Amino acid sequence: MDLKDLYRDVILDHNRRPRNFGRLEPPARAAPGYNPLCGDQLVVYATLDGDRIGELRFEGSGCAISVASASLMTEAVKGKSRAEAEHLFGLVHALLTDADAATPPELGKLAALGGVREFPARVKCASLCWHTLNAALAGDPTPVSTE
Ligand code: ZN
Repeated sequence: MDLKDLYRDVILDHNRRPRNFGRLEPPARAAPGYNPLCGDQLVVYATLDGDRIGELRFEGSGCAISVASASLMTEAVKGKSRAEAEHLFGLVHALLTDADAATPPELGKLAALGGVREFPARVKCASLCWHTLNAALAGDPTPVSTE
């Protein structure tokens, strides 16, 4: 199995069995996100423990990439500080948009999203959850749109 197959399997697995799927009740923060280009919609729920992300969940529906990306994101940033989460988003964004981007080990399974780069129309599918996470952490209930 080459790396591409492995990455595809990670995406398919997280789409079929999304991790941390569901809602959190207030006072957890929540923000809705929508990608009109594809029809992906999700809500990200988060609790903050000081500066750290405590619980993190999402629900919604969309294409395989949007669901898998949100699932991978929840696994990657749970327990991290907001600064660490933002740093990871920077790495993911580079991975999605920059063909020369490195794939540092700290990306972990998020590296599976690298294949999305070959489909520029799908980049917003993969980044929607991250923008929505930022809004949730900021306590901003204004719906996030990728447009
Ligand atoms: Zn999509």
